[in-house]
Amino acid sequence: MVGEDSVTKRYEVRRLLQKMRDGIIKELSVTIDPKLGITYPEAEVDLKSNVQNTLEALHQEGYLLKKQKENVMICKKCSGASFMIMHRCPNCNSLSLRKGMIIQHLTCGYTELESIFAERNYVCPKCKKKLRALGVDYVKPGIQYVCNECGNITQSPAILLKCWTCGELQTIDEARYIEINTYLLDYTKRELLAKVTFNLTPIIQRISAVGWIAKKDYKITGKSGVEHTFTLALWSYEHGLSKTPDIVADIHMDIVDETRVLALYAKVLDVGIENAILAAVPIASEKAKTLAKYYEITIVEAENTDVLIEKLAFSIEDVIKKLILR
Ligand SMILES: [Zn+2]
Ligand SMILES: [Zn+2]
Ligand SMILES: [Zn+2]
Repeated sequence: MVGEDSVTKRYEVRRLLQKMRDGIIKELSVTIDPKLGITYPEAEVDLKSNVQNTLEALHQEGYLLKKQKENVMICKKCSGASFMIMHRCPNCNSLSLRKGMIIQHLTCGYTELESIFAERNYVCPKCKKKLRALGVDYVKPGIQYVCNECGNITQSPAILLKCWTCGELQTIDEARYIEINTYLLDYTKRELLAKVTFNLTPIIQRISAVGWIAKKDYKITGKSGVEHTFTLALWSYEHGLSKTPDIVADIHMDIVDETRVLALYAKVLDVGIENAILAAVPIASEKAKTLAKYYEITIVEAENTDVLIEKLAFSIEDVIKKLILR
């Protein structure tokens, strides 16, 4: 059985892992939305909420491999990923900065934008002397920022981010740094996967070897007009897919209780199916077994899904033999 605090206790988590094992989902990749921030669209179909934490937990528990592709900063308040970027004076925090080539007058030490010296025909605004030659009485230390509030001059002003979604101001250090990961199913963890997912391929192959047809996740509309899904549906070849299945099976990776039996009974009654199997990992409750017997539903139990698939295949073959002899 799976550990008590495993995220795979949640049904929707197992359904996601099952889709990955079946190859319906190849990998869980990120979409970065300016407003919503980081989303995993394929995972969100099943998981709905708390997606990133759940995927990280599945990685920690060994089900998913993680590949870091990039990183992104998101808003500390709303998790949005779209910012206006502003420069700020590191001395007084003012956002009123001018940028340009700087001149330092070596004679008096006065430092200002070149444009200010140029306006005055290169006469120093402080000592009123005319600048003579670059490198002799003045230098150009490069492009820098001059603060209009405190006069501070800097090459590297502080960066301030303003969130486009919620308007929150924050420094780069305050914004949240997020690793962008892609998650893949770790197929090498056979035993671990067998506890929470199943592989129907061996059954489908065995059934087709005796001339039957098997479909997984089969959807069919009942007499009520409600659409039902069965984990597995089977037809004898002569009937093809045109009529209702001869046998259906539902698999639950849960302790199966009587409500599951009732649900399956209601489905087979609505569709008009005669042979139903309810498969459980790890077990079905005593009440469930009693009820299943009454409704003539076969129960199959096993401690992991690999064993369950083996037992389910035998159980299906038994029903087929019975139907052939009839
Ligand atoms: Zn300043
Ligand atoms: Zn000067
Ligand atoms: Zn925000």
